[in-house]
Amino acid sequence: MAEIGGGAGGLAASIVLARSLRSVVVIDAGSPRNAPSAHAHNVLGQEGINPLELVAKGRREAEEYGVRFVDATVVSAEHTQQVPQESEAVGFILETSFGVSIEAKRVVIATGLTDVLPDIPGLSDGWGETVIHCPYCHGYEVRGERIGVIGTTAMSYHQAMLFSQLSDRVTFIRHDAPEPDEAQTRMLESLGITYVDAAVEAVVRTDSGTDVTLRSHTSSAAPRGNEAGATAENETMTVGALAVGPYFRANSEIYEQLGGTVADHPSGMGSSIPAEATGATDVPGVWAVGNSADISAMVVASATSGVLVGAQINAEFIMSSVPS
Ligand SMILES: Cc1cc2nc3c(=O)[nH]c(=O)nc-3n(C[C@H](O)[C@H](O)[C@H](O)COP(=O)(O)OP(=O)(O)OC[C@H]3O[C@@H](n4cnc5c(N)ncnc54)[C@H](O)[C@@H]3O)c2cc1C
Repeated sequence: MAEIGGGAGGLAASIVLARSLRSVVVIDAGSPRNAPSAHAHNVLGQEGINPLELVAKGRREAEEYGVRFVDATVVSAEHTQQVPQESEAVGFILETSFGVSIEAKRVVIATGLTDVLPDIPGLSDGWGETVIHCPYCHGYEVRGERIGVIGTTAMSYHQAMLFSQLSDRVTFIRHDAPEPDEAQTRMLESLGITYVDAAVEAVVRTDSGTDVTLRSHTSSAAPRGNEAGATAENETMTVGALAVGPYFRANSEIYEQLGGTVADHPSGMGSSIPAEATGATDVPGVWAVGNSADISAMVVASATSGVLVGAQINAEFIMSSVPS
């Protein structure tokens, strides 16, 4: 078995497989998605743990069961045969940046996703600390602060709604989001969310917060909803935190090289590898776990999918050795 990616999803799958006496190698580039944050939350039994410490612990646990690790990026992959049918057949060859190639009967894609932020100068400087996306991952830490939500899609209104549970000083800056419909306007008003019909020109992190420079939308400069949101050209507002919805792009290059096709998320928020509940993908012998297959999976959900998929692969191996 080869697993590409050693985050929560890949590690969990590797442990299940190794505990089922399967031979597993994990090739990992070492950049879990949440590494920019100092703490991971909602991780039962490990609340607030540093993300890199969490994967280091998981790796030690996997190594105790014999999982082998290669610190490298898988740069290309190909089939050695189209459909690996016998359990002993070698199905794939993976080329790594380390210069070694790895043969495997099955491949688990656990490569996570890339958070593509809007192209706003200075925005990425605070990513994972003062620029955040997930109310459950970081919201508690910024509770009560002035929070600016930068609109990127219609779903950003939903994001503002969730952050309003954590602070009564939430400002929705429309930026690239569509103008609010009636229901969204009602929601903003009833939850006390200030609405600013402007785009974000630049973001600067300072000692006292984050300065956000606004630019009026030329097409619709007049503010709607809460009038407190009126903005002048190049007005700067200071917030304690900025929430933004990145485009969640599946790290799917290897999957696509093996013949797979990624799917757009219906919300328009990202892309993912289409996988069944078992983790099986359209490419025979290739499974997907964690964020590569599910843009919404947090750490525990990613690990859970790894456990389930590992168990499925083990069962599939056993069944494939039984003559039909
Ligand atoms: C800033 C931030 C903070 C977050 N905070 C939280 C939180 O507090 N709590 C929570 O539950 N969730 C949090 N999340 C979500 C969390 O990061 C994901 O749920 C989790 O990382 C998904 O695990 P994964 O194994 O699918 O992917 P990842 O953890 O991203 O692991 C993927 C691994 O695959 C490797 N990789 C990618 N491509 C290749 C390749 N070609 N070859 C080899 N290796 C490769 C990467 O380097 C990485 O090590 C946060 C997300 C972000 C962006």
